[in-house]
Amino acid sequence: MTKQNVVVPEINTGKQVATAQKPPVPPSGYTAISRKKLLHNVEVNSGGRINSWVDSMRASSPTHINSTPSLSDDQTSWMVQHPSALDMFEQIIKASKGKQIVMFLDYDGTLSPIVEDPDRAFMSDAMRATVRKLARYFPTAIVSGRCRDKVYSFVRLAELYYAGSHGMDIKGPSKGSKYKKGDEAVLFQPASEFLPMIDEVHKALLEKTKSTPGAIVENNKFCVSVHFRCVDEKKWTELAQQVKSVLKEYPKLRLSQGRKVLEIRPTIKWDKGKALEFLLESLGYSNCTDVFPVYIGDDRTDEDAFKVLRERGQGFGILVSKVPKETNASYSLQEPSEVMVFLRRLVEWKKMTLRRQFRMRRQIEDVFSYLT
Ligand SMILES: [Mg+2]
Repeated sequence: MTKQNVVVPEINTGKQVATAQKPPVPPSGYTAISRKKLLHNVEVNSGGRINSWVDSMRASSPTHINSTPSLSDDQTSWMVQHPSALDMFEQIIKASKGKQIVMFLDYDGTLSPIVEDPDRAFMSDAMRATVRKLARYFPTAIVSGRCRDKVYSFVRLAELYYAGSHGMDIKGPSKGSKYKKGDEAVLFQPASEFLPMIDEVHKALLEKTKSTPGAIVENNKFCVSVHFRCVDEKKWTELAQQVKSVLKEYPKLRLSQGRKVLEIRPTIKWDKGKALEFLLESLGYSNCTDVFPVYIGDDRTDEDAFKVLRERGQGFGILVSKVPKETNASYSLQEPSEVMVFLRRLVEWKKMTLRRQFRMRRQIEDVFSYLT
């Protein structure tokens, strides 16, 4: 694995040291269940045991992690391994020197708060204004598990790249982006053959889960989400059984998990990490060494993108989380409000840099005209 240069604080002294970060070791004690193992269990499709499914659903619930008694010690050690991107801002900027920053942003839980009704996961006007400014200074993409049209209806900024359905539905800016390459519109849908199957599964899941109060089935075009954030925990086993009974008829679909959501998607090797690579290529940075991608996300599905950055040894991932989680991200932010502060600081830093460059150019021109 390629080493990734990040800066972490030394404990107690507050002094900062540059170091090649190893893959983070999960702090012991905060969860008794190995996420990797659970994910494997649920991803074997119909072969997975129901208990494993439900354990995995519990592991993805922050309330359970919160209730672990030894959290504060673990939180401290986790924060040393994944320091706040706000505290490390200057060092992050230093690491990006001379490189083009490209921004990748997850939506739910990153730009908008997690809410009970997924149809009402609106972003604030302040966040929208921040993202608009961000896209003025850096190529910016929204990468979400949601259907692309749905996430666009929340964000409503035509100058961004959008990768919906976990990256299986990618579209370039419709207007107003200076980073758009050529006149060609970027449109990429690697799982289009699955569309009829996804529709069928969506209908079957709607029917099957209607007896479980609070279950919400969402058609995300190239994948289906079964949200259980409003389902009583006593009913999780029942819901897992319902989803499993539908899924066993579809060996070409697989199950993965996000925050209080079961995701059903095609078995093709495509995820948010591949979407990130595709977008970098579309922007003309596929083999570039002077690119600095920054990916911010809160979800297990964002780990694929964090992993890609770690393996490329370029840029870094920022996990949005209030609690310790096993992650390939290098830094952390606690919640969407901190994401907004981080993005604003990036914009301010870029504005100042451009102003300084402009002033210097003017001074050089003045000196030159004086001499001639
Ligand atoms: Mg998310």
